[in-house]
Amino acid sequence: MERWKKTLSESITSLDELARFLPIDIESLQPVISRYPLRITRTYLNLIREKDDPIWRQSIPDRRELEQDDLSIDPLNEENLTCVPGLIHRYPDRVVLLVSSVCPTLCRFCTRKNRMGGEGGLINQNSLEPGLEYIKRSPAIREVILSGGDPLLLTDDELEKILIRVRKIPHLEVVRIHTRAPVTLPERITFRLCRILKQYHPLYLNTQFNHPIEITPLSANACALLADAGIPLGNQTVLLRGVNDDPGVMKRLMQKLLTIRVRPYYIHQMDLVKGTGHFRTSVQKGLDIVEQLRGHTSGMATPSYVIDLPGGKGKVAVLPDDVRRQGQTFFLRNYLGEITEYADSKEE
Ligand SMILES: *Cc1c(COP(=O)(O)O)cnc(C)c1O
Repeated sequence: MERWKKTLSESITSLDELARFLPIDIESLQPVISRYPLRITRTYLNLIREKDDPIWRQSIPDRRELEQDDLSIDPLNEENLTCVPGLIHRYPDRVVLLVSSVCPTLCRFCTRKNRMGGEGGLINQNSLEPGLEYIKRSPAIREVILSGGDPLLLTDDELEKILIRVRKIPHLEVVRIHTRAPVTLPERITFRLCRILKQYHPLYLNTQFNHPIEITPLSANACALLADAGIPLGNQTVLLRGVNDDPGVMKRLMQKLLTIRVRPYYIHQMDLVKGTGHFRTSVQKGLDIVEQLRGHTSGMATPSYVIDLPGGKGKVAVLPDDVRRQGQTFFLRNYLGEITEYADSKEE
């Protein structure tokens, strides 16, 4: 058995097992995991140093997940944007293809936690047919994002079958993979996997580091293997209360990501998803963080801060308010807070 499969098979899925490693109250958490299942890889669990640290908060069940809230199970209206099963089409030129319904570690703040992670293992190849057919007959689609669940929980062969199919569609220019495996199951990134992936360029991969302590020799090595295969790596951090809602932590995270050749892409405002309310910060908090990144550190370490609008209206990048305009004159505020007048040139 490949090592990653062994590691995956040793993942913790019951509170009794978890209690062997961590001081948890089994009885109070049982109702939580009946609703939202538990799964955590030993590799990710090993990063926990103490109760309620950033790794704990992301992966260990919490009573607050069951708090009554008026949040939605599908705020992004993904069900309605699912024109064929397993495919989400919101923007004109790109689609999300859900190729897997499981993840190595189930994040407690997951946007799809009410619709994923429960029953049903890997999506089988047949269930991808309608999605692939849809892309084939939609020439406006030039990019496909393989997501899930985690696409890298497919075997090498399953994944390659999808990549072959996708690459046969002439108008598809770019393939993107969204996966948290480099963080939660870094063993998954093998030479063999990278040898396969590099045959299907241009292929991009976005991962999700949420805290600098997730950058370990193992996760750094996973990213190195991918980068060496010529795969441009991006990162989508979720802004999480009690985990990374701190400008210093975020700055260190973004800077460290560049050292492992991962380019920060987005910081996501938490979606309004039922069962995740305790993770949400104010938008002002996000703006404060962006404010303390921009100009203060490398532009390459400065992602866009985005809010995914309810109802499936798409992502909006929100910026600190530093552009004012009077006629042809702009008043621009720099990272030190100084305002400079900037005269625009006239359009011919
Ligand atoms: C976020 C998202 C995308 C990708 O958006 P980018 O801004 O290109 O990263 C595509 N489709 C859906 C449905 C999404 O939610």
